[in-house]
Order: sequence, then C-alpha cells, then structure tokens
Amino acid sequence: MSAFNEETVTEVHHWTDRLFTFKTTRDTSLRFSNGHFTMIGLRINGKPLLRAYSIVSANYEDHLEFLSIKVPEGPLTSRLQHMKVGDTIIVGRKPTGTLLIDYLLPGKRLFLLSTGTGLAPFMSIVRDPETYEKFEQIVLVHGVRQKDELAYHDLLVEHLPAHEVLGELVTSQLRYYPTVTREQYRTMGRVTDLMRTGKMFDDLDIPPLNQAEDRVMICGSPGMLKDLKHMLEERGFAEGSTSRPGDFVIERAFAEQ
Ligand SMILES: Cc1cc2nc3c(=O)[nH]c(=O)nc-3n(C[C@H](O)[C@H](O)[C@H](O)COP(=O)(O)OP(=O)(O)OC[C@H]3O[C@@H](n4cnc5c(N)ncnc54)[C@H](O)[C@@H]3O)c2cc1C
Repeated sequence: MSAFNEETVTEVHHWTDRLFTFKTTRDTSLRFSNGHFTMIGLRINGKPLLRAYSIVSANYEDHLEFLSIKVPEGPLTSRLQHMKVGDTIIVGRKPTGTLLIDYLLPGKRLFLLSTGTGLAPFMSIVRDPETYEKFEQIVLVHGVRQKDELAYHDLLVEHLPAHEVLGELVTSQLRYYPTVTREQYRTMGRVTDLMRTGKMFDDLDIPPLNQAEDRVMICGSPGMLKDLKHMLEERGFAEGSTSRPGDFVIERAFAEQ
C-alpha cells in the first residue's frame, strides 16, 4: 500500500501574500490525533516533494485543512501557493508529533503558545471536546508580525463561541490572546516578552505561570522554542515526550535552513 493518499483541493483562502489556508478531501482510512502533523506535498515530474504540515482540522471532521506559509523560493510552497480547487495533493498516511494532550500530565490550565503557522496544530486542539474535559481553562496565544497574519481570528472570536456543539465550552473555557510585533494593535510584543514581564497574565486577569497547575504546548520558530523552553525550565517545568508525559511539550513550526 502506498505511503500517501491523493486528495483533492476543495477550498483555498489567501490571508496575505505570505500566508494561505487550504482544505482537501480526506481519505476515510486516515487516522490522526488532534495536534499531529503529517507529510504533504506535490508530485513533481512523478517524484513526491514533501514537507511536514500540522493538521488544522479536527480529527472528527471529514475534510483536511492546512495553514501554509509562502516561501518565495521554497521548493514546495512556491508551487503550492498557486494551487486551485480541483488540484491534487499527496498526504502522508502516518501523522505523528508531540503536541498531544496525552503527552502532558494532568493540570488545571493549558497554555497553547504559538507564533506564525505554529497556530496550526492548536486549531485542532481547541476544537477537541477532550481538551475541555481535561483542562478547566485553555489560553491560546498567537504571535505574528502584522495583524492580517492573525489567521483564524474571526473563527476563534465569532464562529467557535457560537458553534452548536463546542460553543458553550469555548465561551466558558477558552481565552484567545493574539499579539502583533510590527504594527499597532491592541496587544503588542513578542510572546516571550509578554510572558516574562507578566503583561499577558495581567491583560487576561489570570495568575502567573505555576508548574503545579499549568501545562504548556509550544509551536513556533526555533528561536521562540528555545527561549520559552528555557523560561519554563527555570520555573521548574519538565518537558514531556511521546514516551513520558511532562509539564510542557514543544514542536518546531518550521526548520531553519
Ligand atoms: C513538525 C513541522 C510542522 C510544520 N508545519 C507547518 C505548517 O503547518 N505550515 C507551514 O506553512 N509550514 C509548516 N512546517 C514547515 C514546512 O515543513 C516547510 O518548511 C514549508 O512548507 C516551506 O516549504 P518549502 O519547500 O517551500 O521551503 P523550505 O525549503 O522547506 O523552507 C525554506 C525556509 O523558509 C522558512 N520557513 C519554512 N516554513 C516556514 C514557516 N511555516 N514559517 C516561517 N518560515 C518558514 C525557513 O527559514 C526555511 O528554512 C512545518 C515543519 C515542521 C518541522
């Protein structure tokens, strides 16, 4: 059996000239956990050109959704960004990753800290009813450069709270904290600074990080991951893995060249 499924693109939405979203069909045999990533790509001259992508859609949905950067000279995304409804992409049949609530110890609050396309895995996690069963409060933080890069802002602020199944859980348990670094916005600054100075906790009117009660997932640039991992370890948080649950788990939103 092939390692890939062929899927048809059903929707494409461009947020900015650097960022877009697309939906595809989903083979019924594809199984994944919310927070997983898989390899996706295109066949170029018959050969697969693949990159890791977090799955934005929840595992109970009948389609797949991805959030993608557009790297001008990038082997995959320089092509992928021109994709149209009806085109075919290939999707790996073995999703994997560390951003699963199963890899965290029980806790009261769950912090989902992301920058850029690092938001992608958290979009499936905030649409998973189990997340709301395991944690009393979920704080979703998304840091971007410009406000139009706040992908899924309206979904998080308007549509999810009104969702017929998830709406009540989202309204009472999910806090969304978008922040922008290079443009005027109601919350400005880097995620790391907002946490270190305590501004984020003041703005949200919640207690500061506390290892006894809080659990954290991080997905962003390699630099952001390094800084936040250091900050958490200073505060006594232990990193979890696929073999041993911990207080926090991390995954790169992309690899530096
Ligand atoms: C575990 C994992 C999950 C990932 N999930 C996603 C995802 O959900 N969405 C997504 O767009 N990308 C994601 N990526 C990155 C993705 O695999 C590719 O790197 C990206 O699609 C660009 O592919 P490319 O062939 O065009 O360029 P590449 O040759 O792969 O990348 C060229 C350079 O572009 C920059 N870059 C690549 N991806 C990004 C990004 N997402 N944000 C900012 N700069 C970037 C880096 O400096 C990189 O070295 C993920 C990577 C990993 C390791």
